[in-house]
Amino acid sequence: MGKIYESISELVGRTPLLHLQQYEKKYGLKASIYAKLEYYNPNQSSKDRIATAMISDAEKRGKIKPGDTILEMTSGNTGIGVAAVAASKGYKSKIYLEDDVSEERFQSIRAFGGETLRFGEDPVIGEALRESGNNFVYAIQKYKDEVLSKTNDVYFLDQDHNDENMGIHERTTGPEIWEDTEGDIDILVAGIGTGGTISGSGKYLKKKKDDIRIVAVQPGLNSRKNLEHPDVEGITGIHALDILPEERVPHSMNLSIVDEFINVETQDAKIATREIAKTDGILVGLSSGAALYAARLEAEKPENEGKKIVVVLPDSGLRYLSTDLFEDREEE
Ligand code: PMP
Repeated sequence: MGKIYESISELVGRTPLLHLQQYEKKYGLKASIYAKLEYYNPNQSSKDRIATAMISDAEKRGKIKPGDTILEMTSGNTGIGVAAVAASKGYKSKIYLEDDVSEERFQSIRAFGGETLRFGEDPVIGEALRESGNNFVYAIQKYKDEVLSKTNDVYFLDQDHNDENMGIHERTTGPEIWEDTEGDIDILVAGIGTGGTISGSGKYLKKKKDDIRIVAVQPGLNSRKNLEHPDVEGITGIHALDILPEERVPHSMNLSIVDEFINVETQDAKIATREIAKTDGILVGLSSGAALYAARLEAEKPENEGKKIVVVLPDSGLRYLSTDLFEDREEE
C-alpha cells in the first residue's frame, strides 16, 4: 500500500527540525540552533496539534456529534486548526479572536466555513478584558459563568483549561524533538501563550534528561497591552504569564517546568523574523521571531558554548503578509 492519508488529522505533527546554519554564522554563534518548523502542520501552525487532539477527545467522551457547533477563543491559530478539523468532520465552528490579530486569521477561519467574532465586540468578554487589563483567563471565565452556563448550543473546547493541550505536546512535540536530536539537546526555547507547547514538551524532555533547560519566551515590558497601555503592539500568540496571580494563569501552563523566562520586545522579534527569512529562507510569524531572538541570547552566553538549542517556531509568515512584519525597514 502506498502512502495516502485519509483525513487532515493524520497530517498533524512530525514536523522537521532545521539547523539554522546561516543565522548562526551571521552572529558567529558558538552554540547550535535547531528550529522546529511547526508551519509544516496541515494548517501551518503548532495549534493543529491541539485542535485535532481536543476534538478527538470530545468525540471519544461523547460530548459532540456531527452537526454540533464547536466554540473556541484564540489569537487565531487554534481557531484556524479547529475550523479546519471541524469542517473535515462535519461540525460547525464559532471562533472568537483577539481584536488586533492579522486579517489572514479571520479569512482562513471563514474559508473553512467557521464563524468569526472579535473579543472586543462581545459585551461580556470585551468588558472583562478591559476591566482586567487584557487578562484572557479572567475574561473567558466570565463568559463561561455568564453566557455558556446558560446554553447547550455550543461545545467549548477551552484550550486554556483543556488537558489535551499540554497532553498532545507531551505525547508528540516532546518525543519528536527527542527522537530527531537523538537525545542530544541541552536547551528548549518556546514562546508561551496558553503555555501548552512548553509545558507538555518540556515535561517529556525533562523526564528523559532532567538537566535540559526550559526557556519560556514572553513579550517584553514595552510590548504588553495593559490598563495603562491598551494600544501597544504586542506579539500575537504569546503573553507574559510569570507576572500573573496564580488564579489567572492558564491551567495549560506549568510555570514550574520553566528554568528561565526571557522577555522579548516586539521590535526585536520583528527584526529576527526578517533576518531568518534572509539568512535561511524561513518565512515564519512574529512569535517565531521572538523565540529565535531568545534562542540567540541563549546561544551567546559563554556557558552555552557548544550546546544544542531547539527553538519552536509556531507558525508561518504567510499568515502575516497583510501586516507590516516584512515591510518595516528601519533597522537596515
Ligand atoms: N505563537 C503563536 C503564533 C501562537 O498562536 C501561540 C498560541 N497562542 C503561541 C506562540 C504559544 O503557544 P502555546 O499556546 O502552546 O503556549
